[in-house]
Amino acid sequence: MNDSRMTSGYETGAGGTSPGEGTRAVRAGLPDPVKHEPTLPGPVFAAHFHLPGDPTGPYTYGRDENPTWTLLERAIGELEAPGQDGVETLVFPSGMAAISSVLFSQLRTGDVAVLPNDGYQALPLVRAQLETYGIEVRTAPTGGDAQLDLLDGARLLWIETPSNPGLDVCDVRRLAEAAHARGALVAVDNTLATPLGQRPLELGADFTVASGTKQLTGHGDVLLGYVAGRDAEAMAAVRRWRKIAGAITGPMEAWLAHRSIATLQLRVDRQNATALTLAQALRERPEVTGLRYPGLPDDPSHKIALQQMRRYGCVVSFTLPSQARADRFLDALRLVDDATSFGGVRSTAERRGRWGGDAVPEGFVRFSVGAEDPADLVADVLRALDESAG
Ligand SMILES: *Cc1c(COP(=O)(O)O)cnc(C)c1O
Repeated sequence: MNDSRMTSGYETGAGGTSPGEGTRAVRAGLPDPVKHEPTLPGPVFAAHFHLPGDPTGPYTYGRDENPTWTLLERAIGELEAPGQDGVETLVFPSGMAAISSVLFSQLRTGDVAVLPNDGYQALPLVRAQLETYGIEVRTAPTGGDAQLDLLDGARLLWIETPSNPGLDVCDVRRLAEAAHARGALVAVDNTLATPLGQRPLELGADFTVASGTKQLTGHGDVLLGYVAGRDAEAMAAVRRWRKIAGAITGPMEAWLAHRSIATLQLRVDRQNATALTLAQALRERPEVTGLRYPGLPDDPSHKIALQQMRRYGCVVSFTLPSQARADRFLDALRLVDDATSFGGVRSTAERRGRWGGDAVPEGFVRFSVGAEDPADLVADVLRALDESAG
């Protein structure tokens, strides 16, 4: 028995009708009620568990399994693959641990992997590492489904949509079909969308992988990652990788993450709606160019986003005329922290070019919309734009 594949009773409750997403989020992964026990049991701190006799599971040693992970894995599985049987979810201590677990458990010397060239900024480091193992890595941009042209002979296709920080979108169904026709596995980095924004497994992916550090947990206080997939053999390899790399989540972090998921739908709806409002306000500003938000009807990503996403994320990106102007703008903001990362309840923004990794203009700003009152946030941004004009 694999606990992370089980779903809790409510999904078949209420006369068999499936619950809405808010209901699913607040109840995700909860155990059946037990008198005098809390609704969400607290973190289980254990390096080992009582284990007399034959060493059978589920809980033997703390690097293999932990009951607090089990509940969180169930919760994430219920959001990524509601109503789907046989999907297994594994949590990791960071998004990068999750990404590495898929790439390094699935690829062998001589294999070909197709990655995006405009994805998360650590992917070039991953590429270099894969190449030291004799794995061929090909890259293409996310937009225009450009990875399609590189699939011949590929063993694994890695998709990141919407891409971070450029917010291009690719057609997951189309890419997954083409990859599968060539015998390749497909993984989608679902960090930016969250499982309430898109469900890659339903779009044909073999793995949905994400950093839970961002909007999934949403408070900027936990690092987390996860992998969900339905191919039992592939997931067994991911699980084995977690065990041998020892890439495991602390029980406290797992519990905080689970607690945070209860408000996922509230946060996502608020933050994403405000992101659209902010994008619309920025569109009116002459100093703003290259404005991107997949939820804007005239955004280049919108058409495909509309087909495969149910929500468009909380990240808006745009370019100000110069590095100096962008720095003055970020300084002038009062409700927005100048910080990296995204998805938290407190808005953050940064000049992305300061890291040097992404191919973006010097004045490029990645803006993560938080849960502030929309009118306050938009007023703060417009004031900061005015004040930074000088
Ligand atoms: C942040 C991020 C990651 C890495 O996640 P960590 O939790 O920081 O390790 C991977 N992919 C995307 C798209 C991200 O935004």
